[in-house]
Order: sequence, then structure tokens, then C-alpha cells
Amino acid sequence: MSTFQAPKGTYDLTPPRSATFLAVREAISAPLRDSGYGYIETPGFENVELFARGVGESTDIVTKEMYTLTTKGGDQLALRPEGTASVLRAALEANLHKAGNLPVKLWYSGSYYRYERPQAGRYRHFSQVGAEAIGTEDPALDAELIILADQAYRALGLRQFRILLNSLGDKECRPVYREALQTFLRDLDLDEETRRRIEINPLRVLDDKRADVQKQLTDAPKLRDYLCDACKAYHEEVRALITAAGVVFEDDEKLVRGLDYYTRTTFEFVHDGLGSQSAVGGGGRYDGLSEMIGGPELPSVGWALGVDRTVLALEAEGVELDLPAVTSVYAVPLGDEARRVLFGVVTELRRAGIAADFAFGGRGLKGAMKSANRSGARYTLVAGERDLAEGVVQLKDMESGEQSAVPLAEAAAELAKRLG
Ligand code: ATP
Ligand code: MG
Repeated sequence: MSTFQAPKGTYDLTPPRSATFLAVREAISAPLRDSGYGYIETPGFENVELFARGVGESTDIVTKEMYTLTTKGGDQLALRPEGTASVLRAALEANLHKAGNLPVKLWYSGSYYRYERPQAGRYRHFSQVGAEAIGTEDPALDAELIILADQAYRALGLRQFRILLNSLGDKECRPVYREALQTFLRDLDLDEETRRRIEINPLRVLDDKRADVQKQLTDAPKLRDYLCDACKAYHEEVRALITAAGVVFEDDEKLVRGLDYYTRTTFEFVHDGLGSQSAVGGGGRYDGLSEMIGGPELPSVGWALGVDRTVLALEAEGVELDLPAVTSVYAVPLGDEARRVLFGVVTELRRAGIAADFAFGGRGLKGAMKSANRSGARYTLVAGERDLAEGVVQLKDMESGEQSAVPLAEAAAELAKRLG
């Protein structure tokens, strides 16, 4: 193992690719910020209890994927595997649900940790941008979130994604379905682990990726046939609202999600260019979660979009984001006096809001011009002793190659004018 290797299942974001990650986080959060969602940030770890209760003791996340640790003081903590439980915990702690109007609308962006088998698109450390709307049961809220995620992906230029939609029912109708499903599943030819899953979390069996399992599930009872009238009406309203918004989706009655807390609306964004790690984001309604973690009844809905897989999706579609050049002006001094003078000009440019950089380290003209090229700067400022004696700097347009002498005192203003 090399000394400089990041831990298994993790990778670093370095320039220039890191700029795409920043732009993706920005693009996903922009529609939320424009829709009344406020920014929330919670710790990278929580008491393990929060996830055990909030995400569910029977989920893969809690049983297999969670990084847990005992502190020197004896506290049992877990690196956060997902955002929803933490955000709800924080909202309850701050009494946000009592402070004003419901729903409490929040968005977040950060690192998440799951001990998974690393593969393309599946890492042990990954990034999500997420949104939660807490405390209101309203199909328009479910629709809003789906529409905003669609808007974010479209703004990034993604086209080959699909939205899968389902309803998981509520505490009235889901238990009835659960039992019917268990009865069906118990008669199938399944391995021991899956048999255990039938007893703790039978809906998850529907999510099994193996072809031989999927084949046996063809005639499984469908949740749709068990939805109570209230859930049916709610789901129809969500469907109608997103349809009216021109958002295309597919009904997927087999869609269940890995977390225990989902009720009613459930959805996933999948991208067809990603192979088996095709989910770029997902979410749904979680009306029971607040009570599960000891809070009041607060029906809520949210989603989380994976930043890593969204970047992979952009690469799969060949989408190049229109990222602004990091540096607009690059200054190349020749000699000590020019260093002092041009460093002053660079400082002036930066204070005027123009992205400028400088050939540090006193290299020769050739090396410095190479750096100027690599920086992507539109203009280069070059000055040597003779220029200074004449009170000018050489201003070079890197696109046209044209070069002209500009009075030193006017250099910053001239650049500001040219860069508009
Ligand atoms: P999967 O079925 O692929 O395991 P999931 O249902 O566990 O996904 P969620 O908990 O819904 O995923 O998280 C939302 C999004 O976060 C996913 O759609 C994905 O883009 C991203 N994500 C989840 N786990 C990982 C991971 N281990 N590595 C990279 N991205 C991930
Ligand atoms: Mg997973």
C-alpha cells in the first residue's frame, strides 16, 4: 500500500474535477434555495441510537453499513449514513416545528459514510445534497420536491434519467399488505438470509436485484391493490400535480426503499448510463419517523441526491458543465522591481473582483508563460525593467494573441473594461 493512498472505498476531489462537484452541489441546491428551503448543517456523527431507531434495525444500513464507534467517554456514536434522521433530530431539538409556519423546509449538503463493498458509483464516503419538508401532509409538497429535483437535473443538462414513483401506503393499509406479501414469499425458493428478511422487512425482498429472485416475484401481491382510499387519493393527487408540471415519471409498483421510515409517496431517480449503481437519488414521505425517534407526529417528505453518482451521470452523458475560468488575468513579472509592481496590480485586480493570479517563484519568461496558459486566463500582464522605465505593462490577449502596451496606472481599469 502506498503511503499516499486514500482509505479503501474513498477518493479525493482534486482540481480540475473538484470544480464539477462544487457546481453540482450548487445546481442541486439552487432550486431549493429559490423555493423557501433554509440551509441546515448537522454533525458528521450522531448517537447510534438515532439511526437504529430512525433508519431501522432491520435495514442494511444499520445492520451492515454503519460505522460505529465508542468514544473515550463511553458514548456510542455512528458516522452518519444518511441525512434525514439527523435533520429531523436537529429540527426537533431547535423546536423549528413550533417556531412558525409549517412545513419547516430545510436543505443540506455534506458527507455520508457507509461500510459497503466498494465498486463504481458505490463508495464508503460519498456526498449528498438533500431536502426535507417537515410537519405537513400535502400532496403538493411531495410534488414540489419531485419537480425541484427534476429541475436541478435538467439545469445540469442531464437527460437520460428516469423518475420511478410508487406509494407504500400508510399505517392503515401497509400492515395488511405486509402480511399478504409474507404469506406469498414464504412459499418461494429462497436462501436463508432472504427468508429471515421476509420476517423482518418483507418489502425489501421486492428490491432484490438477483434475476432468479425477481423471476419468482412476478405474481407477488401488489401494494397498489391494497392501498386504502386515503392513500389512493393522495397518490393520485401527487401524480396529477407532477404531470401538470410536465414532469415525466414511471409508476413502479415494485419500488421500495432501503429505509424503514417511508410511507406513501416513494420515488427514485435512476440514470441509464451508470450500470448497476443506477440510483442517482431517492426519497419519499416519512410520516412516522418523528414519532419513531421520540418526537410528536410530524408528517414529512424529503429526498437526497447523490453528488458522486450525479457527476458520473454527467460524464456518462458527456455533459460538459459551463464552468467559468478560474483565473481571468495572469501576471508575469521579469525582475524584482516588476515583481513588486505587478504583485500590487494583482492585488488591485482581486479587490476589484477580477480573478487574478501571479507567477510565483521567480521563474523565467518561458516557464511563466506556460503557467499563464495552463491557468486558462484570458489576459496576461507581462512587465520587465524596460516597461517599468516607460511606465507601461504589456497586456496580452491569450485568445487572439494580440499584445499592446498599457500605462501601468490604467492597467487594472483597462482589464476591468475588457472583461466586462
Ligand atoms: P443503493 O440502492 O444504490 O444502495 P440507496 O437506496 O442506499 O442506494 P439512498 O440511501 O436513497 O441510497 O441515498 C440517496 C442517494 O445517495 C443514492 O441514490 C445515491 O446516489 C447516493 N448513495 C447512496 N449510497 C451511496 C454510496 N455508497 N456511494 C455513492 N453514492 C451513494
Ligand atoms: Mg444502499
